[in-house]
Amino acid sequence: MRIRANNPGPMTLTGTNTYVLTSQDDTSAVVIDPGPEMADHREAFLAEVADRDLRAILLTHQHADHSEMLGSIDQWAPEVPVYAVLERFARHTDPVADGDEVAFGDSPADVLRVVATPGHTSDSISLIHAGALYSGDTILGEGTTIVTHPEGSLRDYLDSLGRLRTLLDEGEFAIIEPAHGPRIDDPAEVIDYYRSHRLERIEQVKAALTQGATTAAEVCDIVYHDVDASVRPAAEQIVKAQLAYLDALPAADDV
Ligand SMILES: [Zn+2]
Repeated sequence: MRIRANNPGPMTLTGTNTYVLTSQDDTSAVVIDPGPEMADHREAFLAEVADRDLRAILLTHQHADHSEMLGSIDQWAPEVPVYAVLERFARHTDPVADGDEVAFGDSPADVLRVVATPGHTSDSISLIHAGALYSGDTILGEGTTIVTHPEGSLRDYLDSLGRLRTLLDEGEFAIIEPAHGPRIDDPAEVIDYYRSHRLERIEQVKAALTQGATTAAEVCDIVYHDVDASVRPAAEQIVKAQLAYLDALPAADDV
């Protein structure tokens, strides 16, 4: 069950998707990405959990539009373990890492498998359950995602896309449920597009450098000249990630 928070914006698309999955016997549940601190959103996903035993909360990565609601967890799920890569978000359990399995019910099928997919941020994970990949912000339902800088890494991101493509080819999942936007029914097409788009942008950055651009802002003016002002800060961040990838980031821009 997908519950969308009412926090639309240039970076969140139509809003953050919180997922509630229920166990085979329908007596327990897990929440993926509780989302922004909004009372109506909390009421909506807790209504989906209903009287089931909430066994776990998982966080795909640190960004506030996914994690902020954890700030009030003492009021709505004080005993429930929170699984996250970063220690500051993990609660009643150790931080998770690639390959970990998080059970949320009594059937062997009631398990989410953690796949480390760093890039958007260093702590980004995706989760596999029942043929679906819960991708957080690593893959979005519309458009492409940002590689943050200096938190994320374009090299890691390209590796993560390659890893997801392999897992898809191996039949580990067949659809993607992203943290923003609609479900993706053609993951191969989307993953390949993400990869080619990133590589194309890298070529454009190289060309901008050849044309004489020397700062991230100048590269951004050339490569992302057509973006809306609302996403210009995001474009500048990804340019910095691209320059870092190319080992061409001026020291003054390394923030
Ligand atoms: Zn994010």
